[in-house]
Amino acid sequence: MSDTLEQAADCLRRGELAVIPTETVYGLAANALNAQAVSKIFEVKGRPADHPLIVHVRPDADLSQFAAQVPESANRLRKAFWPGPLTMVLRKSPGVPAITTGRRDTVALRAPNHPIALALLEMLDFPLAAPSANRFMSVSPTTVEDLDGAIRSKACGVVDGGPCQVGIESTVVDLTGEQPAILRPGMISRAQIEAVLGVKVGEPEDLARSPGTHPRHYAPRTKLILKPNVTPEEPGLVFGKPRNLHQLEMQRNPEAYAKRLYSALIELDKMDLPLAFVELPPDGVEWEAIHDRLRRAAQSE
Ligand code: AMP
Ligand code: MG
Repeated sequence: MSDTLEQAADCLRRGELAVIPTETVYGLAANALNAQAVSKIFEVKGRPADHPLIVHVRPDADLSQFAAQVPESANRLRKAFWPGPLTMVLRKSPGVPAITTGRRDTVALRAPNHPIALALLEMLDFPLAAPSANRFMSVSPTTVEDLDGAIRSKACGVVDGGPCQVGIESTVVDLTGEQPAILRPGMISRAQIEAVLGVKVGEPEDLARSPGTHPRHYAPRTKLILKPNVTPEEPGLVFGKPRNLHQLEMQRNPEAYAKRLYSALIELDKMDLPLAFVELPPDGVEWEAIHDRLRRAAQSE
């Protein structure tokens, strides 16, 4: 059963959690400025305290409320990509509680492009910390049906917004260093960001700047093996091939693939196979984020 926007807004105003749709994946949301509310996210997800949360804001938010410095690059990127699946890491302002940012001096900000998330942010007078609505290290839900029962039972409200249109987590770009750096690839590509900023976008200088990017993440229970070609006898996710009982056909374009990937992994888990094969998609830059998620999904403990 889905709750209404008004019910979810009430939960959030009371410092409770609500599962809400965004265009990337479903989020487990709380008032980002209320430390006690945010602590419930960590508890329910089983997420380590040093994994910072993304703070979701209105597309027209005054970023200086949350960030101590708003560089010109941030203004350009928000103009180009917000609302949308781009998260920017900036120096944090003191108003954002330490728990929200995993005790870092930086804050990650994003304006989600989903009518329900946007309407909620309009109704509320605070931003929303909203990591994916899954247990730590498991697959993120992209439909309400894929939501874990334990998470659902601990949320005060759950709003059904249908399947997420993007399907994988946002691109995270760090704007606090000498050079912008991608901390997590997503469907907004490095090339698109470089085109807007007119500078090269690098890799993080050290992995400590990229918390929460564990090699195993977004992973199903089924052991996955990535390979160039999967034959019809092998169970798993097959790229651009006809469907049979043991295969979930993925489409030959990165947007369609991303949209379908997590629900396909969850469906695969329901088959209780000892292992499954995933046919590697092509190499192009537009597939970078999908390769990243598949690599993490196939990483053993
Ligand atoms: P999610 O699990 O989708 O909420 O995304 C959180 C991810 O955003 C983390 O794994 C980091 O890669 C990134 N992130 C969030 N906050 C920060 C921050 N303050 N500094 C650096 N990266 C951050
Ligand atoms: Mg997550």
